Amino acid sequence: MTTTTAPRVAASTPLELPSGRRAGAGTAGLAPVDLPRTEMFARMRAGEIGSVHSWELVTAVDGPGTRMTVFLAGCPLRCLYCHNPDTWRMRDGKAVELDTLVARLARYRGVFEATGGGLTVSGGEPLQQPVFLARLLRAAKELGIHTAVDTSGFLGAACTDEMLDDIDLVLLDVKSGDPDTYRRLTGRALAPTLDFSRRLAARGVETWVRFVLVPGLTDDVENVELVAEHVASLATVSRVEVLPFHQMGRDKWASLGVPYELEETEPPSPELVERVRGQFRARGLVTY
Ligand code: SF4
Repeated sequence: MTTTTAPRVAASTPLELPSGRRAGAGTAGLAPVDLPRTEMFARMRAGEIGSVHSWELVTAVDGPGTRMTVFLAGCPLRCLYCHNPDTWRMRDGKAVELDTLVARLARYRGVFEATGGGLTVSGGEPLQQPVFLARLLRAAKELGIHTAVDTSGFLGAACTDEMLDDIDLVLLDVKSGDPDTYRRLTGRALAPTLDFSRRLAARGVETWVRFVLVPGLTDDVENVELVAEHVASLATVSRVEVLPFHQMGRDKWASLGVPYELEETEPPSPELVERVRGQFRARGLVTY
């Protein structure tokens, strides 16, 4: 999630997707609001104002077609490979009114229709702001716009069934199949993600699974088998993306003064990436 000065249109294929995520291009065009604290918190609780890290227009990432991807601020995980540690804290985002965001979204309706695209809400962790997310999704559906949510699933319990009905596609990060590895990698438990994935399947929500391949951390054959076995049991998973780890986020950790454990970790070799993709494909999963 790099932060540049203006919205950009990315044109990468799924095979070129970065691991972790890049953030958007800032909040240009989304004038932040400045209110007294009490009023601000009340309106945030009501989902009228959200804490937004950035947004961008992208093509061929974050779901089908050209998409407006909105990165909400705040995340309960602390992934060792996170490329966007600047999205971790809600208070570091800009306070943006729902109406402002929806007005910007509506401007791209023609683009979405022409390309089969839509809205993707990412982060950080979008479910950290469930009321704002719910209202944003509802507004998008009222405009007839395809919706996707990019999530770790850790806060899946905060996603109501009504919200699921407003989500066309979930981009679900399954970061590990082994609970100990997951905790070492994220600082949190794996079970909520698995629970959420089962809920998505039971409710018929299309899901793309993302797995970040980090040599020495997530590449163990057994670990990958656990992920693949679970994912293959979910009827609504239509694709898997194996994302090779790389070092694009390293500078952000340094600039935030946060110790970065993967300083010396190399990206996976092409052979390793193919081995892991092969493990998913062996279970009949469409894998990139
Ligand atoms: S879940 Fe949170 S900590 Fe992990 S990669 Fe995404 S933004 Fe970073």
